[in-house]
Amino acid sequence: MPIFEFECKKCGKTFETLMGSNEKEKPPCPDCGSKKTKRMLSAFSSGSSNHNTSCGPAGSA
Ligand SMILES: [Zn+2]
Repeated sequence: MPIFEFECKKCGKTFETLMGSNEKEKPPCPDCGSKKTKRMLSAFSSGSSNHNTSCGPAGSA
């Protein structure tokens, strides 16, 4: 199941969520509950720069 990254346009929080069959539905912000979320493009294919992602707390198992 693909994981998409979203950014809340209200509070600026970024979060990841699993998108299943209802991928047309935007997930609300887990922080403030706003539905003004925008799907962010993953940076998997951005050249050959291999920098570490240092955003957010490292807590995902
Ligand atoms: Zn928010």
